[in-house]
Amino acid sequence: MRPGSLTITSLLLFSLLYLAPQPADAQQYGYWQQEADYEMEVDMDVEHHRFSGEQTLTYTNHSPDTLDRVFYHLYFNAFQPGSMMDVRSRTIQDPDRRVEDRIYHLDEDEIGYQKVNRLTQDGVEVTWDITDTVMEVQLAEPILPGETVVFEMDFEAQVPVQIRRTGRHNAEGIEYSMAQWYPKMAEFDFMGWHNHPYIGREFHGVFGTFDVTIHIDRSYVVAATGYLQNPEEVGYGYESEGMEVNRPSGDKLTWHFKTDQQHDFMWAADPDYHHATAQVPDGPLLRFFYQTDPVAEDASSDRQEELLENWEKLPDYTSRAFEYMNSHFGIYPYEEYVVIQGGDGGMEYIMGTLITGNRSFESLVGVTVHELVHAWYQGVLATNESYYHWMDEGFTVYASNRIMTDLFGDDTSDTMDRNYDNYYRIVAAGIEEPMDRHADHYERNVAYAIASYSKGAIFLNQLGYIVGEETLEKGLRRFYDEWAFKHPTGYDFIRVMEKESGMHLYWYYEYWVKSTRTIDYEIQSVESNGDETEVVLGRHGEMPMPIDLEVEYSDGSIEHFYIPKVTMWGAKENEFPDIPRTDLEPWPWVDPSYSLQIPAPRDQIERIEIDPSGRMADIHQEANIWTQPDE
Ligand SMILES: [Zn+2]
Repeated sequence: MRPGSLTITSLLLFSLLYLAPQPADAQQYGYWQQEADYEMEVDMDVEHHRFSGEQTLTYTNHSPDTLDRVFYHLYFNAFQPGSMMDVRSRTIQDPDRRVEDRIYHLDEDEIGYQKVNRLTQDGVEVTWDITDTVMEVQLAEPILPGETVVFEMDFEAQVPVQIRRTGRHNAEGIEYSMAQWYPKMAEFDFMGWHNHPYIGREFHGVFGTFDVTIHIDRSYVVAATGYLQNPEEVGYGYESEGMEVNRPSGDKLTWHFKTDQQHDFMWAADPDYHHATAQVPDGPLLRFFYQTDPVAEDASSDRQEELLENWEKLPDYTSRAFEYMNSHFGIYPYEEYVVIQGGDGGMEYIMGTLITGNRSFESLVGVTVHELVHAWYQGVLATNESYYHWMDEGFTVYASNRIMTDLFGDDTSDTMDRNYDNYYRIVAAGIEEPMDRHADHYERNVAYAIASYSKGAIFLNQLGYIVGEETLEKGLRRFYDEWAFKHPTGYDFIRVMEKESGMHLYWYYEYWVKSTRTIDYEIQSVESNGDETEVVLGRHGEMPMPIDLEVEYSDGSIEHFYIPKVTMWGAKENEFPDIPRTDLEPWPWVDPSYSLQIPAPRDQIERIEIDPSGRMADIHQEANIWTQPDE
């Protein structure tokens, strides 16, 4: 069809198709997921920062498709000059200062690599091709639906100098931060293979079990996201009270970890790690690994002391954060959680985190809280971070803001307000990009950050405005209960919230997640109309919302008026039962304005305000208030 021949009918049809929910993306019926059970044994050479490994991967194809090839991630290959991550880091408009051109300048003995020397499928050798960080394996036999195969691999790796998340010798002197360190099966789901080359951003993995044995020089203390199986051979604070530690002789110690219902396994090692523990009431055992000296190379002794004190105070705050999460967002399902000094900021790995420690106390608590909340949003609720980064980052920011306010009161800088301010700023700058975009493909790092962290957090806070706080909290619990240990999408979350609230909410997803359209209401006029007052509200933004309107009378009394949206097909309960609420006719989204009558003369009205709760992200807040002019 040529553009000139477009008719009104075909345009209408086109837009209806465009706006219709895509059932292929909501997966609650007929849901399936793959399974990957790893058994790995690695032998570490701490002199050359290399290791050799054997991996037995038992892979079950629960999909309805026959697989004739599989893909592994070889993440360490990203840390080589000329890799896609290197080029991307040097050419993006606003480079990440942690990376910039650091990969480009790595020497041969500083780069990272993972080399596969042998791979068999049920004992039969297979062939493969490696492109950047992705290995494509041509199978000896197709894997049929429901079938389980065993891959056996010999591999070797060099640990890169720490650039991003993983590596050796991080800025605080931690020797090994071992994330993304093993050849990892890519996820295959209802969308197909998730085999995008790593450029430094998001992850998505297959649920399964991990059985990992690490041989490393006996002076090293190992921390990991698993349960240590042989504390009596290791000690280093893993032994229970009264347990006799009996280390076998030899240059190296063997560390054996196991865990299940995981989609990744991270570990770290340093000879100077101090190991502290704390027990969360009715929750997991917390482990903390940090070095006591030196905390930061250039630090004064006062500073060193302060940083060390921060680590000593951290367990209590971490424990309280777990209690908050357990009581509001669902019970943490594992028996341990580990906070490890390492990496380059903070990064989550289900049963643990790598964080840096050279920060203020509030910042240390802030990063720990953020990463532990990820055990819910990304760990147990394992969204595909590439496509739903705003669900792991945004939901995490939302929950951690609540925890930080609970822990620090108004003193905290981790507030919801900050997310709104970030969002308003990027809208004003005109460089916002939609949340519904593959994380690797944002034009700017800042656009990704605002979309996933700030706008993602507002997504939930603003949803509380639409459905009511109580319903939001019940919905979040239901989401956790229904989707734990699975890979929910944004559509799955919206369906849960629709069921919980009894409202249609897809419109919210359509505007807030998939577009950059904005919310912009105003109080257009307030006119006398006999004994009553006529208020006209105007909508300037393209994104329609339900309206909470608060009226304060000159006698100090307050009344609420509630205007739902037609397409919600429902209404929220009165969130403030102490304040009388008048429910008005729904506002059709096609109407640019809406008129209502307030049953009081104009001179008896002190103030009228749209959304006094401030949860609606209206880009021009100043137009949302009318006050009685001084006579
Ligand atoms: Zn995060």
